[in-house]
Amino acid sequence: MSTVTVRPTTRADHRVTKYVVTALDGHPMTLLRVRGRHAPTREPVLLVAGSGVRAEIFRAPTDRTIIDALIDEGWDVWLVNWRASIDLDPVSWTLDDAAAWDHPAAVRHVAEVTGADTMKAIIHCQGSTSFAMAAAAGLVPQVTTIVSNAVSFHPTLPAFSRFKIGRLLPLMWAMTPYLDPSWGDRPDTAFGHAMKAMVDLTHRECDNSVCRQVSFTYGSGRPALWRHENLNPATHDWIRGEFGKVPMSFFAQMSESVKAGHLVSVSKRPGLPEHYGVDAPATDARWALFAGRENRCFLPASQERTFAWLDAATPGRHSLHLIPGYSHLDMFLGRDAARDVFPAMLEELAR
Ligand SMILES: [Zn+2]
Repeated sequence: MSTVTVRPTTRADHRVTKYVVTALDGHPMTLLRVRGRHAPTREPVLLVAGSGVRAEIFRAPTDRTIIDALIDEGWDVWLVNWRASIDLDPVSWTLDDAAAWDHPAAVRHVAEVTGADTMKAIIHCQGSTSFAMAAAAGLVPQVTTIVSNAVSFHPTLPAFSRFKIGRLLPLMWAMTPYLDPSWGDRPDTAFGHAMKAMVDLTHRECDNSVCRQVSFTYGSGRPALWRHENLNPATHDWIRGEFGKVPMSFFAQMSESVKAGHLVSVSKRPGLPEHYGVDAPATDARWALFAGRENRCFLPASQERTFAWLDAATPGRHSLHLIPGYSHLDMFLGRDAARDVFPAMLEELAR
């Protein structure tokens, strides 16, 4: 494990230490530990971002990010670039790969460096589905509280997204091994140019071509991952550089999972069950499920169904927070997320 100190993007009084580590199959990953002015007084919190972004998606140019809020409350903040991160070389991957190899390794490294026996996790979108799989398989027993945003075990899509992933995906996979919202600014293949032309024609909701490409790639809204009114102009511009390649192997697994009504394994990795969200999970972790009521990437029903399943197994232990006026990533990137979203997340971590 090697380390290097890098400057943070949002706060001059924060320092980031980057750990170069490996997943259990030897795949490279990085962990970022963010420290404030004072040493942490609480246990580690691992933040796991979605696919096709980087760990620092949690550091949008807003007045107060979730990282600022966690550090101010004394948590020891860690971010992970798992194999879906655009900070790493692009590879084909499935949720199984991340569940079996990336998240258990990340948790183990954090435990090793900090000496902590237990920790918490804040997981988002495909960081959430894959981490939820690892937890359900009993592969991250150190994690005692899991704050999950948008989707965990029961992905539920708007009708147009079901059509895209069910019908268009197989056709597109014959033409491209990945989708890339950065095609909005920099199409680098013939397929990328065609996608940009198609999205420019059908999405007119703003003048940010990456924002519009993100919406076509990931959902059914205009926009799909945030409400424009929730982002400050700096964040809306910043997201142009924060999205990259996502392999078709992932979309194919999500398509199978949506059809099944719950996450399914497709890669037969050791230690992973075939189905999730059906039998009780092999974890004692307490789950705090969050979703924006306006989410047009995964419908709020995704988390509602998971909550019903968890609550049936252990009534009263878990919680569900549906936040009005919010969509998907604006739960973290929103200009007022520090007021509308973070307090409930911090409360869940401190319980
Ligand atoms: Zn936009």
